Amino acid sequence: MNHSEQICAAMAELVRTGLNRGASGNISVRDGESMLITPSGITPQNLRPEMMARIPLDRDDSFEGPFAPSVEWRFHRDILRTRPEMGAVVHSHAPWCTVLACARRPIPAVHYMIAAFGGPDIRVADYATYGSAELSHHVLKAMEGRAGCLMANHGMVVAGPTLERAMWLAEEIEALAHQHFHSLLIGGAALLSQNEIADTMAGFATYGPRATGEGK
Ligand code: 13P
Ligand code: ZN
Repeated sequence: MNHSEQICAAMAELVRTGLNRGASGNISVRDGESMLITPSGITPQNLRPEMMARIPLDRDDSFEGPFAPSVEWRFHRDILRTRPEMGAVVHSHAPWCTVLACARRPIPAVHYMIAAFGGPDIRVADYATYGSAELSHHVLKAMEGRAGCLMANHGMVVAGPTLERAMWLAEEIEALAHQHFHSLLIGGAALLSQNEIADTMAGFATYGPRATGEGK
């Protein structure tokens, strides 16, 4: 699959897994010196690979494509521009993330999986109107040293080196939001320490399937 096809499949996956609805949410993928991003206001059912918009990462305010790019092109571009380790950005109004974002409650270290986001917490970006340069500024700040953040009264955004990783993080941030919300209902989680999260991050560096060379 090329990048545009991957974006289409991922947008459909967000709906299938309950992480998004309707035309909300958007995805971008780094493609050479530019990014491909979903067009604005088109539901995943109606989305086709040829509808993607292409926006240069090194220049301002131009795009190519048959439809206008997502209104959130600024924070997608600004993340990919300032975070060279990132190759894809996923934004959605995932339900549990959005509950916490509306209450402007960051996610603390309720579960060790928070280490996948680069530290012991997931911040809430300050509120600004959707699509604004101010919102992009707030998102970049909340994502410093992190692979994701909540967005006040809006939703969440995650970024990863690949779209596959960003999609995995989208599921993980929603799981953390779900866990935090429900822990609060029973008095709050016992939080992990900075050291415990640092140890987990060190472990994650080598975590993954390891072939033993045995078997057939
Ligand atoms: P777009 O349809 O323009 O991508 O906007 C959806 C959205 O989530 C705005 O924040
Ligand atoms: Zn949105």
